[in-house]
Amino acid sequence: MKYVIAMMKHETNTFSPVPTPYESFVSRGDFYGKDAYNAFKGTNTPMAAFLDLAEKEGAEIIIPIAAETWPSGPVHAQAYQRITDAICDAVAKGCDAIFLDLHGAMVCQNTDDGEGTLLERIRSIAPEIPMAVALDLHANLTDKMITNCSVIAGYTTYPHIDMYETGLRSGKILIDALKGEVKPTMNWAHRPMLAHTLRMGTDDEPMGDLVAKAKTIEGQDALAVTVFGGFPLADFSDAGLSVVTVTDNNKKAARDISNHLADEAWQRRREFVYELEPLTESVARAGKLPQGPILLIDHSDNCASGGTQDTMAVVAEVMRQNLKDVAVGAIRDPQAVKKCIESGVGSHVTLALGGKMDMPSIGRKGEPLEVSGYVRLISDGDFIVQGPMLTGVTMHMGKTVVLDTGSIQFVVIENNHEPFDLEMFRSVGIEPTTKQYLLLKSRIHYRAGFKPIAKHIVECSGIGVTGSDYSQFKFEKVRRPIFPLDLDMAL
Ligand SMILES: [Zn+2]
Repeated sequence: MKYVIAMMKHETNTFSPVPTPYESFVSRGDFYGKDAYNAFKGTNTPMAAFLDLAEKEGAEIIIPIAAETWPSGPVHAQAYQRITDAICDAVAKGCDAIFLDLHGAMVCQNTDDGEGTLLERIRSIAPEIPMAVALDLHANLTDKMITNCSVIAGYTTYPHIDMYETGLRSGKILIDALKGEVKPTMNWAHRPMLAHTLRMGTDDEPMGDLVAKAKTIEGQDALAVTVFGGFPLADFSDAGLSVVTVTDNNKKAARDISNHLADEAWQRRREFVYELEPLTESVARAGKLPQGPILLIDHSDNCASGGTQDTMAVVAEVMRQNLKDVAVGAIRDPQAVKKCIESGVGSHVTLALGGKMDMPSIGRKGEPLEVSGYVRLISDGDFIVQGPMLTGVTMHMGKTVVLDTGSIQFVVIENNHEPFDLEMFRSVGIEPTTKQYLLLKSRIHYRAGFKPIAKHIVECSGIGVTGSDYSQFKFEKVRRPIFPLDLDMAL
């Protein structure tokens, strides 16, 4: 038996000014063959589960590519071509099964449906080869994706701590099918709603409830049931919430289950709308809380949703209201990193921090903030994740410095990185449990590592291309009407 196992992952924020050339995949890995095996074996990822399943079956493993990068703007045409060519060339050489670790919300310069177009191409090369796909909870499903593979299962947690398990759920069904024990049949349903990312946390309602119901059904009447929250900032026709069900040769049941859960999500659509609090009020509220660590969540500029990770609005307000004992994780600013490294550890610097990227999609220029402090530490920015999300994977923040103003310790980095693991601070000598405030450029993933140590959590609405006010975005391609862009839609 020969299995092709590959990874192609990117969540595309079509409003993001951050470019996505092939080179950007290098920071999270563009791995081939044995290097890919070594990078992902034993980690909490679908790739690792596929590798374990293949080894258990004694299959020969072919890894044409494992490529992933942080969310950003549309993937450059050349990058998409290179990654998909690698996968398709491997399939063309012949195999018995295909296992793909994808995201599901990839928009490229040369196709709006990155995953669907890849799956369709694979199907044209190998019409009969069984194919299992693992997807992110934020996948935007399309007909093309459903009709061109055998099995889809997605993460059931946000923060995503069940990546390995998702690979197992998807891959195991395919292996059972290869043995003739099941005949996977898939159907799906979607509803015209752009659920808000901040309302998709699976610790919260309504997502927690929907996911629990899907799990119960999966244990009884289906092989896999996944509620996909979707990724609303990928502006293309099919963006939005959906449900995918895989049954053992029962198309009607797969359709009924998907519709049943999608109907419930639709009925509860108002619960998926996020209510904003003005920034001054959020920071003032945080300032009155007695005991830290208090998490200040700068959700408008989350790089893991396509943010530039360099907007300074929340930091500026924290400084204006004079909050003390704050650690900021992290500002992406290669120029500031360079200046601090040139000045050296222990030196004092004054620099324009952040605000290096303009954001034309929301009509804003980058606005740096003048900051003075001393350079406390310089690091290569690598650390191995210890917490429950992406456990064991090495993160590369690029050259990293800690800039200390006395009241605020800024972690300033070269590459994008969403803070979801305590090691992000610990690896640069900051003990997060001792800080009064942790200002995190994150939306929900911070919960994986930081929620257990937090005494309070305050969501702060700053500036950025992951902003929570949809009215600042000009949606042009998503099908209309769609809730909540069209609040009065008659359905
Ligand atoms: Zn996600």
